[in-house]
Amino acid sequence: MHPLALGVILTYECNISCSHCCFGCGKRGSGIEGLSEGIQNLSEELLMKVIEQASRIPHFKVVSFTGGEPTLRYDLLLKALGQAKKNGFNTRLVTNASWAKNPHKARSTLSELKEAGLDEINVTYDDFHSPFVPLSAIRNLYKASSSLGMRIAFAIVKQRSSVINKEYLMRMLKIEESKLGNEVFFIEDNVVPTGRGEMLNEDCFFYKNESPSEGYTGCPFVGTHLTVVPDGKIISCCGTPHREIPELEAGDLQTDSLFDIVERNQKDMLLLWLSIIGPVGIMRRIGMNSKKGYANICHACKVLFTDPANRNVLEHYVKEKPAEIILNDILLNDNMIKIADKLMASPETRARAD
Ligand code: SF4
Ligand code: SF4
Repeated sequence: MHPLALGVILTYECNISCSHCCFGCGKRGSGIEGLSEGIQNLSEELLMKVIEQASRIPHFKVVSFTGGEPTLRYDLLLKALGQAKKNGFNTRLVTNASWAKNPHKARSTLSELKEAGLDEINVTYDDFHSPFVPLSAIRNLYKASSSLGMRIAFAIVKQRSSVINKEYLMRMLKIEESKLGNEVFFIEDNVVPTGRGEMLNEDCFFYKNESPSEGYTGCPFVGTHLTVVPDGKIISCCGTPHREIPELEAGDLQTDSLFDIVERNQKDMLLLWLSIIGPVGIMRRIGMNSKKGYANICHACKVLFTDPANRNVLEHYVKEKPAEIILNDILLNDNMIKIADKLMASPETRARAD
């Protein structure tokens, strides 16, 4: 579990309010309902501190600025991009693109961001965003990224009745197939009942069964994609339900160094367990299951940690059976067994054994 990417939530404030928002971000000046004003925005001091500390941890390669809508803190974003670039990171910006109101504005803003140090733009657009952001803004931004030679990714969240998907955007933006995988990327996921998404009608959700073929294997993000949230806490993953799962809180930048937090994460049995067999694997191990399945792996994680029945069984299992977890799932996990099988079958091993 080496850390590769650092997500930075610059603000919980957003200029729009999508009905599925996993954090429940809100309008300028209010952010997430119920959180005090002082912890809606990451301070400049903590922001610069975390970038500087991440630069001294060799595995970190990417810093991704997100929110809320990170361009609401535009001057600070420019400064942070410069700082991240100066420290050798690849940089990414996750945005709703509402600012790309016309071709000129899209290009001039993106040029300025690029000049400051931005490598990749990641646009969130789907049926939840489209009531607030016109498709023309997405088109303006796509054209600007193309003309500036910047990689662009479209992050699409889908519900059952969704119209907007990869094919729709390819058609509407006239994206050539040849650009896929090098200049243009698509990330599609199912809507998750978390944050404001919890209030959506149950019919919106796609639930996939629990099989590993549906992607319910180890979590690739825990311990590798850390996130700093506006109050300075560090979360052990990029997980959407982090505010509901205390186990994912790895430390506090106000009191801990990022280095210590990363080191602690690497020795955390629960995080290792999540990274190797994933939340669904853990639920199977502790004898819990879900009849309807999960929207995605993070939804499963939320069910594992926040359902009181699961939580009790999990706490009991972790307390009673740490040796079993370490031996069966961490040391003798499927990947290690495959490596061992390969080694056993290799001519070199055979030659030594003869
Ligand atoms: S999903 Fe993104 S764009 Fe929509 S309200 Fe949340 S932070 Fe804002
Ligand atoms: S599955 Fe859990 S640990 Fe992994 S990213 Fe999602 S919330 Fe985080």
